[in-house]
Amino acid sequence: SIPLGYFGGIGAASRNGILFKGSNFLDILAKVENVVMDKTGTMTEGVFKVQEVFIKPEFNKDEILNLVNVLESQSTHPVATAIHNYWGEVDTTVKLENTEEIAGHGLKTTVNGKELLVGNFKLLDKFNISHDADTANIVYTVIAIAYGGKFAGYITISDSIKVDAKAAVDKLRKMGVRTTMLSGDKNTVVQYVSNQLGIDSAYGDLLPEDKVNKVKEIKSRNGSVAFIGDGVNDAPVIALSDAGIAMGGLGSDAAIETADVVIQDDMPSKIPMAINIGKQTKKIVY
Ligand code: ADP
Ligand code: MG
Repeated sequence: SIPLGYFGGIGAASRNGILFKGSNFLDILAKVENVVMDKTGTMTEGVFKVQEVFIKPEFNKDEILNLVNVLESQSTHPVATAIHNYWGEVDTTVKLENTEEIAGHGLKTTVNGKELLVGNFKLLDKFNISHDADTANIVYTVIAIAYGGKFAGYITISDSIKVDAKAAVDKLRKMGVRTTMLSGDKNTVVQYVSNQLGIDSAYGDLLPEDKVNKVKEIKSRNGSVAFIGDGVNDAPVIALSDAGIAMGGLGSDAAIETADVVIQDDMPSKIPMAINIGKQTKKIVY
């Protein structure tokens, strides 16, 4: 039978918008050694704003941006929403063929008989498109564009850190929990955000399978892992962790279904709170 204290713990958590799918996760969180987190939508709002648009002079800027807007209207990714909010209404006269969303990379389509790619520079590399853009020092997320087999330019977009994210990381540090950030976004952006938050280690430019390998590595080297994320691409690492946590407000269905613990209001401060409730429950039970 389940000791009474667990019900108290699950109840206290649920009153704070933290849903535990099993009492064993209170124990696991009580002694967790690492909190590993996603960036976009987890520690940041996941609401991007367009900052800068750079289209090479040999391309027609309006034409390119119109095509990018049409292509992004096919996606629900936060990047797509930003582009959409910026350019507004979609031109319905443009016909796309064979549109594909490539996880961790971006979008590919054919339009006017030409290949259009919109995503990160890894996407351009994948389709052997060379580029001369020097974006190394940009702390914004950079969305690259290629049209007709040539690099056409890029759009920079920025996101903001959630109000309670820094306090959450500070609390975890005081509890002696190691923090790691894993993200599919550009490494310079990931390092910038993790420095702002005081996270112990951070890795960017990761594909969904790279996140899985990093979590496996942390588990074997540094002990138990609670992973917190929101995206479809986080579901595999949520499943693999000792305690998988999903942001339940704006999080994807895949992340929420796979998770052991769901934070309903998407606030990072609920991570140390969940650990504390686990610790308090343990004191009552044993
Ligand atoms: P994260 O791990 O940070 O949540 P994702 O794996 O979802 O990130 O995406 C990684 C990167 O792939 C994004 O930062 C973006 O550069 C690119 N990307 C993904 N989807 C799109 C899209 N629909 N349009 C443009 N770029 C995209
Ligand atoms: Mg995410």
